[in-house]
Amino acid sequence: MSQKKYLWKLQEAEDKIKKNKKELDSIGKDDDLHKKVSEYKNLKEFYENKKNEKEKVENMLYKEEKKVKEISYEEKEIKEKLYGGSIKDTKQLEALYEEEEKMKEMINKIDQVILTYMENLYKIEEEIKQMSIKGKSLGIEIKEQINKNKIEIEKMKKEIEEEIKEKKELLQKINENYLKLYTEVKSKKNHPIALLIDENICTGCHMDVSIMTLQNLKKDKLTLCENCGRILFSTRDLQ
Ligand SMILES: [Zn+2]
Repeated sequence: MSQKKYLWKLQEAEDKIKKNKKELDSIGKDDDLHKKVSEYKNLKEFYENKKNEKEKVENMLYKEEKKVKEISYEEKEIKEKLYGGSIKDTKQLEALYEEEEKMKEMINKIDQVILTYMENLYKIEEEIKQMSIKGKSLGIEIKEQINKNKIEIEKMKKEIEEEIKEKKELLQKINENYLKLYTEVKSKKNHPIALLIDENICTGCHMDVSIMTLQNLKKDKLTLCENCGRILFSTRDLQ
């Protein structure tokens, strides 16, 4: 292989390394995964809040149900007095009727409250169920994505290792003068080597090069583009 071809391969290897390192970086950052994780955290917080809310409503419901039981018991006692026949006094009976009515009214009111709590509880339970389903599937998605990323990262790291190895091998093959020039141009330009296309156009700066430059190139000399300063290669150099 010619020195020019080695140099060209060096530029390709450096390009690949740079590209893969960038990709490795973006896998590590994984914005999509971060979004999912924060969504999961929010969901979990909502879930915990809903569970607390559920517990509160259950407590309130329990208290109301207890109240109804107590009042019903009292109501039963009044009924026994009313219809048991032991009380004959009309005034006393009237007072008991009145009390029974009051109790009924109270029970009705509490029953309404209980119904509202139950509806509320049902709604909360549904929400908890939905959150739990969503949380589970999101959790699976996150795990899968993390595993996928791990595999990708390993693959990418291996590729980069191979490319670095290839680069080292190339560096040993390229003679000092070529390498020196390459490094010099590289300190100023992203891609130190540019190809010449359409007879006389530099792909680095897209400008025509002079006849003298073309002649130097034909003599197989290391030639720089007079416009952008890159090392010029003809397609023939890469054959
Ligand atoms: Zn140029």
